[in-house]
Amino acid sequence: MKSIPALDASLKSSLSLAQPVFWLNPNKMKTQEALSSLASKALPTLSDIQSADERLRRFAPLLAQLFPETQASNGIIESKMKRVEQLQLGIIPFIGGRIIGDWWTKLDSHLDIAGSIKARGGVYEVLMLAEKLATEHGLVDSDQDYTQFAQASFKALFNQYTILVGSTGNLGLSIGIISRAIGFNVTVHMSSDAKPWKISLLKEKGATVVLHDSDYSKAVEEGRTAALNDPFAYFIDDENSVHLFTGYAVAALRLKTQLADEGITVDDEHPLFVYLPCGVGGAPGGVAYGLKLIFEDSVKIFFAEPTHAPCMLLGMASGLHSKIAVEDIGIELKTEADGLAVGRPSGFVGEIMMPLIDGIFTVEDHTMLWLLHLLSVTDKIELEPSALAGFYGPIQLFYTKDGFNYLLNEGLLEKMQNATHLSWATGGGLVPKAIMDDFKKAGASVKIEF
Ligand SMILES: *Cc1c(COP(=O)(O)O)cnc(C)c1O
Repeated sequence: MKSIPALDASLKSSLSLAQPVFWLNPNKMKTQEALSSLASKALPTLSDIQSADERLRRFAPLLAQLFPETQASNGIIESKMKRVEQLQLGIIPFIGGRIIGDWWTKLDSHLDIAGSIKARGGVYEVLMLAEKLATEHGLVDSDQDYTQFAQASFKALFNQYTILVGSTGNLGLSIGIISRAIGFNVTVHMSSDAKPWKISLLKEKGATVVLHDSDYSKAVEEGRTAALNDPFAYFIDDENSVHLFTGYAVAALRLKTQLADEGITVDDEHPLFVYLPCGVGGAPGGVAYGLKLIFEDSVKIFFAEPTHAPCMLLGMASGLHSKIAVEDIGIELKTEADGLAVGRPSGFVGEIMMPLIDGIFTVEDHTMLWLLHLLSVTDKIELEPSALAGFYGPIQLFYTKDGFNYLLNEGLLEKMQNATHLSWATGGGLVPKAIMDDFKKAGASVKIEF
């Protein structure tokens, strides 16, 4: 085992034993200071994120044509936010008390096209590439809307290119589905323990799937290497892509409108707590970054990771980011939450999150399954295991010593009556029914102790 001087011994021991932990980020700054400290990174600005939103709007007529399920929203891929009132009540006997504030979820699990949060970043980066190539080749007629991208001349151009990506599953689905629909070839590198139904669905959509015996980081590396030196290959880099990150951040603009539509105020007296399941970090990082730009200190961000894949926590707490992996402290990377089954975090995202997020907590697999079953009964929402990680957040805040102390020390306790909790539901919409039934059955038999 590596000795990691910067990592607190008791934290390291709990992580190594795969015990649930609640880690408060000692590096957090006031949002404005944090953003200044990140200035040298030339991160997307709010206006860059607005431009990304506009790009998605340009493509909306095309998406409505290619994906009939998006017609109701005129080709805009966006999820609903929904209150989980029954869960909030139903959980009381188990945790022995109330969660104060209103508990909501953001249903990216049911985003059109890919059924997960990956529909935001993945679709965005592929469309961006399509627009760039078509523009460079003089194909775009500015007098027409973007349904022109379905014409044979565009498809013939895109068909010369292959998009490569490494994925634990959902990013592959998102990029595979949109790439094929537009006309690109696509190769998805996955680890061999990826869910079989995700692999089959990708193949059905016409993607090439390459399985690797080693873990996710290796799958990404293979994709990256395969794309080098080939002008007709385009690698989407889950660990470092600013475009993916920007695509994810668009969620923040949309959420701002949705909160206003629901009559939810977010300000100093009405804090918004957002709980985001985290794998390599890109999706939760992009969303969190966008939310901090908009709501600044009024939004509190927590990431959620499986006890068997706490890569972002390890990277941030040690300051080593992508230079450390969970295996280095003896953790076996093994979780039912396949969307979060990542052993090494994105260094790019970890460094951005350092001054911005409030903390990270870890969740055991059986807790995710228990929550999966409970939520399916209380509020009739069906999610994949990864997506339940964020639902553990409010419980941790009120019912662990560290969580409660955080509320006390930050002067938040007396504001909780006005608070909104938002657990980001990141995936599940495409899970086949038989598999969802198995998850629910497994969750129903969990005996939980808080
Ligand atoms: C990918 C994924 C996440 C986390 O996204 P990262 O960019 O890997 O951190 C969370 N939940 C689900 C269901 C996912 O597929």
